Amino acid sequence: MNFWRKTIGLLVIFTLLLSFTGIALTTTAAEAEYNEAAMKDKLAKAHRVLAMNGHDDWLYGHMSFRVPGTNNFWIKSSTQSLDGVTSDALILLDSDCNPIGGSGLKKHIEAFIHAEMYKARPDVMAVIHTHPPNATALASMGMMIESLSNDAVMFINDQALYTKTSALITNAEMGADLAKTLGKNRLLLIRNHGIVMVGDSIEQAVVAAVFLEKAAEFQIICLQAGGAKYSASDKEIERSRNNRISQTKGMYNYLESKVSLD
Ligand SMILES: [Zn+2]
Repeated sequence: MNFWRKTIGLLVIFTLLLSFTGIALTTTAAEAEYNEAAMKDKLAKAHRVLAMNGHDDWLYGHMSFRVPGTNNFWIKSSTQSLDGVTSDALILLDSDCNPIGGSGLKKHIEAFIHAEMYKARPDVMAVIHTHPPNATALASMGMMIESLSNDAVMFINDQALYTKTSALITNAEMGADLAKTLGKNRLLLIRNHGIVMVGDSIEQAVVAAVFLEKAAEFQIICLQAGGAKYSASDKEIERSRNNRISQTKGMYNYLESKVSLD
């Protein structure tokens, strides 16, 4: 009796020790992968990349990244311009958009867009909301991105159009409605307002946003000239999409090298 009691006791202690060690190892690995200072620096530069590539709208527009394993996110404050974001001015918000860290500067009233995207899409690690003129013009005409250029292909069958309202997204309910319309897509066009781009990294979201505005501008050139005669075939779309996606890292590094604050 004594023997079995001791054996079971030892087994319980051993199991507990093993699980604690396991948890500790997992946490350490996750923490090692997440370098907060480096990510904040990257986010600040990402805003400037967007500003230099068709997304500038003075103080408007914002980007965020998710703190891994949570629904908290680092985001631009409303007091800096898109082309002047610095990492020390970023703010950390929780999933209800309450400030929980960072500079203490004012948050954007549309921060709910980001919060609701992170809640709805566990795969999403970065969110952009901006007001690029060409993509917004297409949305206002009730149009989405068509396969008229190689810049456009990554959005084919990966976009949605939000037509319910052009109003600013100022509460969780409106943000959730936007996320619902986005669905599993990477791009949401909002009529008379702007766009939301999501990605599994800052790099992926930014490069897609830059391609988006280029593709939208090209589409409008075609519209102004009477409409395009040709568009890419399904096979061409697939090939170009894979090609573009494989170039994300290199393209982002190039774009980031052209911004030089900090
Ligand atoms: Zn907006």
